[in-house]
Amino acid sequence: MRLKDKVALVTGASRGIGRGIAEVFADEGAHVAVNYLGSADKAEEVAAYVRSKGRRAMTVKGDVASRTDVEAMVEKVWKELGPIDILVNNAGIETIVPFLELTDEQWTRLTDVNLRGNWLCSQVVCRRLVGEQRKGSIVNIGSIQAAKVLPGRTHYAPTKLGLEALTRNMSAEMTPLGIRVNCVHPGLIETDMTEWVMKSPDILPIVLAQISLGRAGQPREVGNVVAFFASDEASYLTGQSVHVDGGWEGK
Ligand code: NAP
Repeated sequence: MRLKDKVALVTGASRGIGRGIAEVFADEGAHVAVNYLGSADKAEEVAAYVRSKGRRAMTVKGDVASRTDVEAMVEKVWKELGPIDILVNNAGIETIVPFLELTDEQWTRLTDVNLRGNWLCSQVVCRRLVGEQRKGSIVNIGSIQAAKVLPGRTHYAPTKLGLEALTRNMSAEMTPLGIRVNCVHPGLIETDMTEWVMKSPDILPIVLAQISLGRAGQPREVGNVVAFFASDEASYLTGQSVHVDGGWEGK
């Protein structure tokens, strides 16, 4: 019960890694706000899991790239579950587009969700925490692509490397005010986002051959590390980024 009675907001928690994080958090004793954008039913399933563990849960719709949505979301969580102790910035999108074909719209939407959305959620939560003189912990979800080049990711990879810099810089300003900030970079994790890789008889063996553990990770294996970063066990840890990638060579 490393997170007993903590209130956590996990963005993009209706599916995939966010769902794994929300479930581990509930196992560890946290009350969880499950943010989603389009998958209301799936978000409800996650909330039901949290409640089945005797914890409080709510679902909250909101686009992390919209200040109006984020401010409304944080207000709702504060009212229904109480002050947020832990924010996990997990919501993210990935598309694969060759550099020469990438449009302004594609660049803007992806960077808005993956990088600006992360900054925005953090700022809204931190302003509130600092205003109320409360402590907190933020965990950002980056990607192995902060350190590795994969084709068609000239928009995606910079957002994830950018999160490392955001983590360090937010940590420098927020830690003295009682809010630790860290980052977890997942490798290949089995979710909807990577279904095409998992189902590709050509690409999957090439990827797995580069991973020391020889397999893809599961969302809860990321969740376990995020729970550690968020917990008081990591009380002297801030501004750090760690790869949870099964030992992916060539970084
Ligand atoms: P996923 O299966 O595609 O799930 C994405 C989640 O993010 C969904 O819950 C989705 O909500 C939510 N979301 C997307 N855009 C949103 C927005 N604008 N506002 C709020 N929520 C939004 O993805 P995943 O594989 O779990 O990835 C989660 C995070 O891990 C992402 O940041 C991704 O970049 C990162 N990551 C994943 C891998 C991997 O191998 N899977 C590796 C490295 C990093 P709805 O379904 O409700 O729309």
